Amino acid sequence: MKSLVIVDMQRDFVDKGGVLYFPKAEDIKDNIIKKIEEYEKMELPIITTQDWHDMEDREFKKFPPHCIKGSYGARLTSRIEDVLKDYNSHFSIKKKRFSAFFETSLEDILKEAGINEVEVCGVITHICVLYTVEGFRNRDIQTSVLEQGVASFDKAAHECALKFMKEVLGAQIV
Ligand SMILES: [Zn+2]
Repeated sequence: MKSLVIVDMQRDFVDKGGVLYFPKAEDIKDNIIKKIEEYEKMELPIITTQDWHDMEDREFKKFPPHCIKGSYGARLTSRIEDVLKDYNSHFSIKKKRFSAFFETSLEDILKEAGINEVEVCGVITHICVLYTVEGFRNRDIQTSVLEQGVASFDKAAHECALKFMKEVLGAQIV
């Protein structure tokens, strides 16, 4: 079973006015919406991840406070929220570290839904996307990363992460 995995398309990252907003995020929104519609037509599972931090998270020593549990900025960007509303095969992962596997139920969801192949999109290419792809690859899940569906505020790091995901982790960049 194949699944679409959408990493951290949250208001604090991808909407103007968000704490960690970066303009490159605008370029991938339409492509991700299109992908979601394809998966919904095929009735395949869609997994979204969200950064979901406590107020005092240690990560805030490195990054300004963002995606606080239950806050406006932690919600998925509104177009993605809308297109996923009422979709039965949507699984939501709330995470507090870069990898969507860390202290979450992602591994159980994969097993229960029989997912052995994923297409990954979202932000940020060299942070949560990279560490989540690492988690998929080390569990032998076939992984494609949508080049037009991932974005970063750092062009060099973005390119480097794509290279690592391909050459080190064995993901396909499509
Ligand atoms: Zn975070």
